[in-house]
Amino acid sequence: MATTTEAEVVTVKHTNGSAKPDISPASTKSDPQPAKATVVTGKHGTGSEKTILQSVGLMEYILESSVYPREHEQLKELRDETDKHPWKKMLSPADEGSFLQLFLRVMNAKNTMEIGVYTGYSLLATALAIPDDGKIIAMDINRDCLNVGWASIEKAGVAHKIDFREGPAMDTLDVLLKDEKYHNHFDFIFVDADKDNYINYHPKLLQLVRVGGIVAYDNTLWNGTVALSEEEMVGLPKYVRHYQPFILELNKFLAADPRIDISLVSIGDGVTLCRRLV
Ligand code: SAM
Ligand code: CA
Repeated sequence: MATTTEAEVVTVKHTNGSAKPDISPASTKSDPQPAKATVVTGKHGTGSEKTILQSVGLMEYILESSVYPREHEQLKELRDETDKHPWKKMLSPADEGSFLQLFLRVMNAKNTMEIGVYTGYSLLATALAIPDDGKIIAMDINRDCLNVGWASIEKAGVAHKIDFREGPAMDTLDVLLKDEKYHNHFDFIFVDADKDNYINYHPKLLQLVRVGGIVAYDNTLWNGTVALSEEEMVGLPKYVRHYQPFILELNKFLAADPRIDISLVSIGDGVTLCRRLV
C-alpha cells in the first residue's frame, strides 16, 4: 500500500545554506546554521510545498507565472476536488504535470502506461497530451480514489483513452507480458506507486517500453532525503524513513544500468527519465 502522505515534509538542511538556491543578495555562505528540519508551507498548499527549490517564493512564482494560467480547466477542477481528499499530498504538483505534458507532446507519445493513479491528476494530464486515438493503461490497487477525478476526466472528453486495470501493478504487468503485442509497445510509462517495488518493476518495464521510449520514475529525490545522512533522518516521519533506502538503491541501480540513458529532473519531488537504448 502506498503512503498517504507522500512528499508531506520539506526538509531544509541549513535554514540559510546549501539546500536553498543562493539567489538572494541577503544570503550569506559565511553564516552556516546548525542542521535543522523545517516545514516549509506556502499559499498554494500542496502545490508550492512540493519543491526541492526550498524556496516557497520561487515555487509560487513558477506556478503563478507559467503553470496555473495555462492549466487545463478540468486539471484545475480535479486538483481542487482532490484538495478535499484526506490523502491529497499524493497528488502530483501542477508544474510537474505541465512538464510531463510538454514532454509527451515533444515525443509524440501515443501508447502510454501509468502505475499509481490516485485521483487521476497525472492520468488526466497524460490523456490531454496524447492524440485522440492514444491509449493509457492505468493501474492502481483500487479504483475508489479515481472516482474523485473521474467526472473531470469525462468532462475533458478523454475518458475513452483510459484502460483502467485494478489490482497490484506487478500482477497486471505479468498479464501484459504474456501478450506479445505489448512487448516493445509503450512510448511512455509513468511510475508513481509503491516505491519499494520500482526496482522490481524495472526489468518488466524495459520489456514493455519500446527502444527509444521513456520510463519515468517519480519521487526519486524522496522529499529531499536522498541527500541526508542517517543522523539527519532521525525524527522524520516513519514512511519517509522507510522508503528512503529503496529510493537510494533505485537511483544507484539506474545510474549504473547500461540499457538506459537517464536524467534525474529536479521538478516536484524529482522524476528520473530513463530512455531505453537496447
Ligand atoms: N500519479 C498520481 C498523481 O499524479 O496524482 C499519484 C499516485 S499516488 C502517489 C500512488 C498510488 O499508487 C496510490 O493511488 C496507490 O493506491 C497506488 N499503489 C500503491 N501500491 C500499488 C501497487 N502495488 N500497484 C498499483 N498501485 C499501487
Ligand atoms: Ca508522486
